[in-house]
Amino acid sequence: MTSLEELRKINARCIHCRACQYAYSGEPDREGETEEYTGMLQGCPAGLYFGWEGYYNSGKQWMARAFLEGDLEPSKELLEVVEACTTCGMCESQCENYIDTVAVTEALRAAIIEAGVEPLDKHKIFGVRVHDESLRNPYNEPREERTKWFSGETDNQEVKVAYFVGCTAAYRQQQIAEHTASILKKIGVDFTVLSDEVCCGSPILRTGQREIFKEVMNENLEMFKEFDLLLFSCAGCYKTFRNDYPAMSGGPLPFKVRHVVEFVYDLINEGKLKIDTEYAKKVTWHDPCHSIRHVGLAIEKEILNNSDNWLIDSRKAEKAKEAHFEIPRVVLKAIPGLKFHEMYRIKGDSFCCGAGGGVKAQFSDMALSTSKERLKEAASTGAEVLMTSCPFCVTNFNDGIKALKKEEEATGKDLSAVGSKLKVVELIELLDQLI
Ligand code: SF4
Ligand code: SF4
Repeated sequence: MTSLEELRKINARCIHCRACQYAYSGEPDREGETEEYTGMLQGCPAGLYFGWEGYYNSGKQWMARAFLEGDLEPSKELLEVVEACTTCGMCESQCENYIDTVAVTEALRAAIIEAGVEPLDKHKIFGVRVHDESLRNPYNEPREERTKWFSGETDNQEVKVAYFVGCTAAYRQQQIAEHTASILKKIGVDFTVLSDEVCCGSPILRTGQREIFKEVMNENLEMFKEFDLLLFSCAGCYKTFRNDYPAMSGGPLPFKVRHVVEFVYDLINEGKLKIDTEYAKKVTWHDPCHSIRHVGLAIEKEILNNSDNWLIDSRKAEKAKEAHFEIPRVVLKAIPGLKFHEMYRIKGDSFCCGAGGGVKAQFSDMALSTSKERLKEAASTGAEVLMTSCPFCVTNFNDGIKALKKEEEATGKDLSAVGSKLKVVELIELLDQLI
């Protein structure tokens, strides 16, 4: 398990240049569709909302260093600042010193809690519920109802592919689980879901509660170890299995993992799947931080960490990361009739939806404000549909739109220019209807 102490050398590379606070969209000369979204912009949802250095990653890296040196005592006040971060990784994408910014922030959270500070109220509730054998999910739902949405045969150990549903799709957005199961059937995947599946641990790991995270990680690893492939519809579960389980368990995964959007991309790329049904809408795409940026960064770092020659391999690593960022775009462009309009901040520079890292539960105003900031950017493209592929992003965007509509009702103002008329569509759900 990567502790803050183990990340000391990585943290020591931070020169406090503060480049991680801002982002161009890929290239400095790329222009957005409006003047507001052109040039270098603020990239950090936490810094943008709170406006104080400690909330930006640059501040957090220095707090981590001070904590390691014993110059900063563990306290509730410190934890409150460090937890107000969506762990979106925008900062990590910007850092030229390849600092694993999110790993340091998450390790600092864990170190503060391990030093005796209680997790923040809402985060503690997640922990208690996930730790509870009769629940094993942060939503306080009965464990035996986890696969209630599924009409097929559960726990089929004869097949080699499992769909890891995740708590949000299992209990809160069951239409995503249903469409995922339906699309997998349509494309001929022989799969099962496990009724004993437990939370992937993402909200627990992100909020610094590592002992409980280890429990559920080990349970899932044991439960799924005989499968060849695990498929995911949740960006957070996917990132947690793909990136965090190997780092936290100290060994490679016993199975392959793929997000369903990636799986569909593979089929399109191999010429095995063609989408015939038209979807004549003007669409913009939001990259979920977990399945796009974090996985892209991990692909880049995996190549660099195994490299004997960074000069040669950094180009290869960059190309592999960019190829990962293209995956949803290839899928969207394969949909006949769809008119695709990119936002300004995309791929590694994409602005977060505002929900992750424990923020939606504990800092709901920040989550809402971040959602509105992204909705405004989406609306600036002129799109009618905001598409993404993460149940948590869908929830937070819909909450943002609800708030805008309420504001319209209260003030009589038309807020369509900042996103009140956008329709949020989940890509897997749409694909299931088109295939
Ligand atoms: S994390 Fe990287 S980009 Fe941010 S202040 Fe430190 S060195 Fe600069
Ligand atoms: S992970 Fe995201 S919210 Fe957290 S400091 Fe970095 S840019 Fe800001």
